[in-house]
Amino acid sequence: MNIILLGPPGAGKGTQARILEESFSMKQLSTGDMLRASKKSGTELGKKVAQVMEKGDLVTDDIVIGLIAEELELRTKIKGFIFDGFPRTLAQADALSDLLVQKGKTLSVVIEMKVDDEALIRRVVGRFNCKECGEVYHKDNNPPKQSNICDNCNSENSFFHRADDNEESFKNRLMAYYRDTSPLIGYYHAKGTLVSTDGLMDIETTHGNICQILGV
Ligand code: ADP
Ligand code: ADP
Ligand code: ZN
Repeated sequence: MNIILLGPPGAGKGTQARILEESFSMKQLSTGDMLRASKKSGTELGKKVAQVMEKGDLVTDDIVIGLIAEELELRTKIKGFIFDGFPRTLAQADALSDLLVQKGKTLSVVIEMKVDDEALIRRVVGRFNCKECGEVYHKDNNPPKQSNICDNCNSENSFFHRADDNEESFKNRLMAYYRDTSPLIGYYHAKGTLVSTDGLMDIETTHGNICQILGV
């Protein structure tokens, strides 16, 4: 089963992808995480994308398509992928379709997570992550049990706030979503693969709704 989680920044894609990955033997492929990893490694690619990401603009299609192609090439044993934050443009969607055909895979479903703009900004501004394991937290909605210890990997003082999780960058990212990514809703609807879900529910309820969509 290969699925896409589609939604604006802060919709809860990463949170749900991580739960699905844990519950079922699927692999989350987050282009945001991959780009942040290359930024951290200080490669030429990393330097190139860092400024673009900080402003909240989209990185070029070639770069992210290349990252996904590489993962699909390497991870031959994985039975199900969760595409999180990819595709974000029509060109990326076409490229993904070609890549899946090449690998003899099909796209099972595209789950659109719907959350209104006001809730999104609260989620993004209050989000923080564990730098060791990537776990996603929120200061009010989803805090760790102990304020400086990661529930998932027990690391101490490993929390960080993303450079692009501020109001200005968020507004730019939201604009990019409406301009470049939201056309994918019609694109996948026309293909008969789109199912929408209310992303405003709490994390557990949303997970239950997604499981229902997946029939698992
Ligand atoms: P969020 O979880 O808030 O939606 P992501 O971690 O998915 O954010 O992405 C962070 C940034 O990385 C984006 O604002 C963009 O600059 C870049 N990025 C991630 N995925 C893509 C993609 N598929 N195409 C272009 N840029 C991307
Ligand atoms: P995305 O990957 O779509 O950008 P995240 O999964 O990173 O979104 O979630 C954004 C923020 O909102 C995080 O701080 C996360 O803890 C919080 N969050 C995720 N899902 C929910 C939910 N259903 N209700 C409330 N807060 C949520
Ligand atoms: Zn952790």
